Amino acid sequence: MLSICIYGMIYLGSALMVYNIIAYIRYARHVRMTGDWAAERRLLNLPLILLVCFLFGYLAVGFLGKPDLIISGILFGGSIYVAMMVYLLRRITDRIKENEHLEGKLMAAEASSRAKTSFLSNMSHEMRTPMNAIIGLARLSQEDKGLSLSTQAHLEQIDASARHMLSIINNVLDMNDICEGRLTLREERFSFREVMMQLNSLIGQQCHDKGLSYNCQSLGEIDEEFIGDGMKLKNVLLNVADNAVKFTDAPGSVNCTVEQLEHEGEERTLRFVIADTGCGIAPDFMEHIFDSFSREDFSSTNTYGGSGLGLSITKTIVEMMGGHIEVESEKGKGTVLTITVKLKAVVQEAAQESVPDAEEEISLEGRRILIAEDIDLNAEILADLLEMEGMSSERGENGQVTLDLFEKSAPGYYDAILMDLRMPVMDGLACTRRIRALDRPDAKTIPIIALTANAFEDDVKASLDAGMNVHLPKPADIDLLCRTLRKLLR
Ligand code: ADP
Repeated sequence: MLSICIYGMIYLGSALMVYNIIAYIRYARHVRMTGDWAAERRLLNLPLILLVCFLFGYLAVGFLGKPDLIISGILFGGSIYVAMMVYLLRRITDRIKENEHLEGKLMAAEASSRAKTSFLSNMSHEMRTPMNAIIGLARLSQEDKGLSLSTQAHLEQIDASARHMLSIINNVLDMNDICEGRLTLREERFSFREVMMQLNSLIGQQCHDKGLSYNCQSLGEIDEEFIGDGMKLKNVLLNVADNAVKFTDAPGSVNCTVEQLEHEGEERTLRFVIADTGCGIAPDFMEHIFDSFSREDFSSTNTYGGSGLGLSITKTIVEMMGGHIEVESEKGKGTVLTITVKLKAVVQEAAQESVPDAEEEISLEGRRILIAEDIDLNAEILADLLEMEGMSSERGENGQVTLDLFEKSAPGYYDAILMDLRMPVMDGLACTRRIRALDRPDAKTIPIIALTANAFEDDVKASLDAGMNVHLPKPADIDLLCRTLRKLLR
């Protein structure tokens, strides 16, 4: 009777072992194919049953029967083997559970990040639209020659405040891109000379308004064009030079030098030194100067203004460009910021097909521009700004109307199209694609400029991919727009 029991348990245990192995192979295949490990979870109990069988068999042999060495060995070894299997399976299932938990968290984080980005994108759009009206109307009003001096001064202040507000919006958007790891650099040919011209014109004007002297010098030969992200380089220089002007009181000075260092192959290194004779930075603040939201004296908000984001963004961009930024300063004496960045040289053949000299002015007088813009006030302001520069315009209040106007016009009737992105009926991207696909001689060549409050990097890429030549952010900077039009119409 006893030996029947013992042999029964051995055969049962062995049969269960075989079933166990087959079941696990099927289970593993099922999980691999469907990714669903929970469906046959009850299988996980099989090794436990097997373990109990082996243990009982072992105890029965040990206490009740004659201890048989071979049988005891098999039962003892089997128990240990199954116990290890149970342990391993538990670990695997725990790991799977943990992964599922992390996956859930990741999905929640991704959803929240998408919601945040879409919120910021909407807010950016919503804030830029009224800013467009404020800056545009201030600019148009300034043209009125009959204004009193105080009204002129008020208009200048409105313009300056609106631009300041805009730079804060841009900084917040850039910071968001940095935090999300979405900030990318463009790799395109740009005119370095133009970047420096814009910097000098903006900073020169600010220094003049504040009673500071401004001087910018090139030390030695510098290539006229490079390959890299010209827009970001300009933002970096503007950020640092803006600070130099902001933290310097009259009578003081802001000086900038730029130098092309030794180069290897196609790589070029540029060094900029921007020095001011302003209030300087205290030694204990120096180590925090590149931290986000850090400002030396928060009580100075009313004196100087600022978000404390500029230098943090600047440092990130400079490092992405393979360079670095250093600061030296003495409280009460002034500050010197040295920036190096790496860019690529424009190779010789490409340089030869370079655009004619920037000085060769193209007249915008009498040009006819097609404006795609759904908001009446924005369209009116833009039309007035273009008129101020001697151009005429026609307007399509959405992408479909703009497409119809272009399609019905004789080839060459319009000189360029200014395209809003978000519009009802047909958006700017679809409209551009449809225009570029038309079968007429100017469909592929007419300059199309995105002029939009959608200012994210993705928006820029989407505009260029759709076939637009340039993406300019709103509020429209009429000087930049004119320069861009001259360049594209050359
Ligand atoms: P903010 O928008 O406040 O100017 P930044 O990140 O550009 O933010 O600068 C951070 C802080 O560094 C400033 O608030 C100021 O305290 C200090 N700082 C930056 N540049 C200068 C400078 N040229 N002279 C004096 N202080 C400066």
